[in-house]
Amino acid sequence: CGVFGIFSRHDDVALNTYWGLYALQHRGQESAGITVTDGSEMEVQRGMGLVGEVFRRGLPSLRGHIAIGHVRYSTTGSSLLANTQPLLVTYSGGHISLAHNGNLTNARELRQALEKQGSVFQTSMDSEVIVNLIARSSQATIEDKIKESLARIEGAYCLVIMTEDKLIGVRDPHGFRPLCLGRLNGGWVIASESCALDTVGAELVRDIEPGEMVVISDAGVKSERFGREDRKALCVFEYIYFARPDSVIDRQSVYEARFRMGRQLARESGLVADIVISVPDSGTTAALGFSHETGIPYAEGLIKNRYIGRTFIQPEQKKRDLGVRMKLNAVRHIVQGKSIIMVDDSIVRGTTSGKIVRMLKEAGAVAVHMCVSSPPIGFPCYYGIDTAVRKELIAATKQVEEIRQFIGADSLHYLSLDGLKQSITNVDSDAMCYACFNCDYPAGTPTCAAAGGNK
Ligand code: 5GP
Ligand code: SF4
Ligand code: MG
Repeated sequence: CGVFGIFSRHDDVALNTYWGLYALQHRGQESAGITVTDGSEMEVQRGMGLVGEVFRRGLPSLRGHIAIGHVRYSTTGSSLLANTQPLLVTYSGGHISLAHNGNLTNARELRQALEKQGSVFQTSMDSEVIVNLIARSSQATIEDKIKESLARIEGAYCLVIMTEDKLIGVRDPHGFRPLCLGRLNGGWVIASESCALDTVGAELVRDIEPGEMVVISDAGVKSERFGREDRKALCVFEYIYFARPDSVIDRQSVYEARFRMGRQLARESGLVADIVISVPDSGTTAALGFSHETGIPYAEGLIKNRYIGRTFIQPEQKKRDLGVRMKLNAVRHIVQGKSIIMVDDSIVRGTTSGKIVRMLKEAGAVAVHMCVSSPPIGFPCYYGIDTAVRKELIAATKQVEEIRQFIGADSLHYLSLDGLKQSITNVDSDAMCYACFNCDYPAGTPTCAAAGGNK
């Protein structure tokens, strides 16, 4: 998911949130929503689909000075209108609206406990547990209510929360997901990625730190630490695939990291071929790094239909299968008679990769060497990225040679875990999560995980 928040007395906050969400659209395409407050009223507008579709008939009508927004990528809770965000609740102290990126690992237990105490849940999202805890807290201030609630939740969460007079940003003590702070016309912006700050014309001030809560009001920005000292564990997949390459996360340029992954992959594979191509768009930066390192020319062997979103993100497998042919086509003129190095960021189920290899061969490629700028994904994610249930992960059950056969490539090369770590230089490489590659989970895994998945 993607989250965005703005506090400004000089800008149209709803409009800026809309632009910000547009910049974060890659983080989730299932639903979108915006909440606005003018200091007394609070209005939310949410819907299924892309940002442009949800707000086609206009933005929330309320003029205000605080807004938050959310784009959803479903990991917990099914894809339903009821499960759109931001959530908005009214309680004795007023209104609270909240948007969440990540996955709680103890949501089930907390929800059962809250239900026993009489809470009624309207959605199947883990995020609703957080709002409930905040609204039920007996602490006096909103800051203390939030802190009390955070002490009970586990897993991955970046939150933007608003009341009638405050905008609050929270990043979990592990720092699984990114969150940054920006300055705009004397106001403040919080966003999942810095590309959203660029879009609204805000200046990146800094990352919100793991275990930090920032509280923005007319009094300015106040920063507080909460929770325990935990192992830092930024999701390495943000650099590999999820984030936009023009974003900077924890002081590391995503583009630079991806480019280095491609260079490193070239060194490790030692491959020689006629051309390097990418699986657009997610493989492009690494493919450029590969080409740069080897001197093998980069060419556009596959063209992506611009009007189709990330097919993987659509929740049902059926839509995903049809998606590949609609999304990509080979450029016969480029690939015919050539030996090709095809670079992609990751292999999850292996279905997309197999179809693309076939497509290139049908277009006349004499050899297709598949190069993947991440290690084999053998383990599921419990912290907000829907890398499938374990049984669907091709690398959970197959060796590299079997995967090569499955996708029909002439050779298959994955980036090593060490090579991946070396590609990220501005973040301490031990302060990251690599669990889907090495099964070293920095936080708990949900109790339901043993039963088969993270959906
Ligand atoms: P596969 O060959 O495993 O079917 O598909 C791999 C492709 O899925 C890659 O191009 C990758 O960019 C894309 N992809 C889309 N969404 C995700 C995601 O959430 N996680 C990962 N790892 N890859 C994804
Ligand atoms: Fe990211 Fe993988 Fe860790 Fe999930 S398990 S947070 S995808 S590195
Ligand atoms: Mg891709």
